[in-house]
Amino acid sequence: MSDRVTFGGSGLDRAGNLRKNADRIEELFASPEARVLALWRGKPCFADDSRTSLAWLASGHPGTTGSEAPVFLGFDEGRPVFTLALPDWEEACAQLPGSGFSDLTEQVHPAIPESHLFADLRRSMTALTPREAELAAMGRSLLSWHAAHRFCANCGQPTRPSHGGWQRDCNACGAHHFPRTDPVVIMLVTRGNSVLIGRSAGFAERMYSLLAGYIEPGETPEDAVRREVFEESGIRVGRVSYLTSQPWPFPSSLMLAFHAEAESSEINIDPVELQDARWVTREEMARIYAGEHPEIAAGRPGAIARFIIENWLADRLPEITA
Ligand SMILES: [Zn+2]
Repeated sequence: MSDRVTFGGSGLDRAGNLRKNADRIEELFASPEARVLALWRGKPCFADDSRTSLAWLASGHPGTTGSEAPVFLGFDEGRPVFTLALPDWEEACAQLPGSGFSDLTEQVHPAIPESHLFADLRRSMTALTPREAELAAMGRSLLSWHAAHRFCANCGQPTRPSHGGWQRDCNACGAHHFPRTDPVVIMLVTRGNSVLIGRSAGFAERMYSLLAGYIEPGETPEDAVRREVFEESGIRVGRVSYLTSQPWPFPSSLMLAFHAEAESSEINIDPVELQDARWVTREEMARIYAGEHPEIAAGRPGAIARFIIENWLADRLPEITA
């Protein structure tokens, strides 16, 4: 199922074997076939204000001077693709957005043609092709990792990117650092005909979702499912089966989705984690997804929670086996 999830694998040729060859990477970047995706503060450059496709620049374009060396993403239809983070420019800094789930502002760079603009990937993730969604997700996660790892975690000295942007090296102590992905479990907890949903204090009005949480060190995903559900809702979970996954580049998570069988039904929420949790029947969920529920709105398009609930409603999920 994961190929139908937003940001699901598009089968990109990442050409990892070339990363150690700095000369070859440089040659590929300089070639006329090279295409470059510029990001500014995690916002990709879109081709125009419909935001349905990314803006790919030639590597000699004045808008491709990054804060650091470009990151090699691989080959798309045989053409080498790169991404880089643009340094701040004056106009953009003056339009800094407020906080919130989605940044609604758009920026135009003086060196990048007028129709191209920088916008929040969350607003457009479902409009992109799977290939462009994968490239934007890779770019966003990798560049945010570079931005947050300029100094060595071992000795505190500055680090430099290497291996086409898939590694950072510390010259002072010799340590190598690699991009991280944080695993998160998200679970469809069911009991008979009902599913458990909850909302956190920060959620938009009427928004509920499946429970989710980070996997802790030394923990299996299945145990993380049982622990998180019990901590947040007081519900005991028995059998747990893997469903599908989604890379989630905000900034670098990997969502691992599970179907979990509840063994108790009395909800006892942790008020720090959740504002409310409730059991919703299949019929009630169908009303939510038809937009006919007075208290609960359907999940966001593109989020894996919505994908799983839609498949549960359509009875397309496999049986829980483990
Ligand atoms: Zn070091």
